[in-house]
Amino acid sequence: MSDKTLCPLCGEGHLTSRVEDTVTEYAGHQGRVTLRFAECDACGSELTDDADSRANKRAVVAFRKSVDGLLTGAEIRALREQYGITQDQAARLFGGGPKAFSKYETDDVVHSVSMDNLLRLVQRSEEAFAELVALKGMTAEIPPRTMRAKLRPAIIEFVVKQMQSQEDAPHTVRRMILYSAPHGELRGTLH
Ligand SMILES: [Zn+2]
Repeated sequence: MSDKTLCPLCGEGHLTSRVEDTVTEYAGHQGRVTLRFAECDACGSELTDDADSRANKRAVVAFRKSVDGLLTGAEIRALREQYGITQDQAARLFGGGPKAFSKYETDDVVHSVSMDNLLRLVQRSEEAFAELVALKGMTAEIPPRTMRAKLRPAIIEFVVKQMQSQEDAPHTVRRMILYSAPHGELRGTLH
């Protein structure tokens, strides 16, 4: 709320925006969430407008996700950005409906446990991500460029030379997809 807003309850004081850490409880777990509101400097009333309410609801949902062991909105966004895909592409890959990832990432909606499992699997494994992209027929739209981009050119050159020097099978290398695994080790697959 604007700091100049007149208090609608007493009509005399003005409202000042405040944020306050509050202890909340969910499923037997206590945690702190930061809540937004406005306080009247005359009557002391605490009020929330639509924006405050939305932010407060998101803060509570994020806390509940952490208690339930689900990825938070910020973690889901980081996962999506890890693979360089849009919210729309993520929805078509993982499911959940057209606006699903917008709602997950802002903590407007709690995603299912099965969705969480799928997201965690892909978070851990670039191979799983590549398989899912292929399964959904989105390989042309989402090429493995994000994986290759992580590799230093010198490493790519080294590996390609190494493959070409195999005398017993010099002509089998038609296409090689290189990518770095989550822990930095280098892998390559031949096609
Ligand atoms: Zn007031």
